[in-house]
Amino acid sequence: MTVVSWLTQIRVAGSVDRCARRSLFSVLMRRVEKAEALELLAVNRRELLGDDAGGCMMCALAARAALEPTRPEVIADNEHGVVLFDHFGSSKGHLLVISKQHLLDTAELPWPVYAELQRLNYDACCALRRAFAPARIFSAVLGASCELPMSFPHFHIHALPVYETDERARPAHVFSWSAGVLVYEADEVERFSDEIRAAWHSL
Ligand SMILES: [Zn+2]
Repeated sequence: MTVVSWLTQIRVAGSVDRCARRSLFSVLMRRVEKAEALELLAVNRRELLGDDAGGCMMCALAARAALEPTRPEVIADNEHGVVLFDHFGSSKGHLLVISKQHLLDTAELPWPVYAELQRLNYDACCALRRAFAPARIFSAVLGASCELPMSFPHFHIHALPVYETDERARPAHVFSWSAGVLVYEADEVERFSDEIRAAWHSL
């Protein structure tokens, strides 16, 4: 079914129900395959780190958010963490909670730091639910055991809305980039981030 005919069906039905709205996001938004996403990520890395090839992307993202807190992707922060809109997200609204300190594994974090980061994650999940009404929101502390192209050892939490309810909603599918990665236009990042921030402030 084409997008146009599907939209027509939804209009004929009289209203865009919740399930249709969820699926609509996944059809209309542009995705790139994993290989192209890795190339874009490498470009992004060079922009952020310059010649510091061994630098930490997560530290650079947190530092840039502190220097430029009005950047569109900066959603919220507290003493120990910052919440950023993921430009290489698996789904619309995919957020990252990033530790401001270069800490690696969960057991390395003092409890007050971990608790504050999870507080940000909790608020992120509540804001995403209010803004986009996904079917589910996954929270995951993943991270690489060493530097990898698409993952980082620096402590971070994914708050990842899932709009599908079928096999595409399986965690292994969602977190592997096997379904590709969303590519946002600049105005989409601003618009979606504005919606999440507005939902956050209304919690
Ligand atoms: Zn770091």
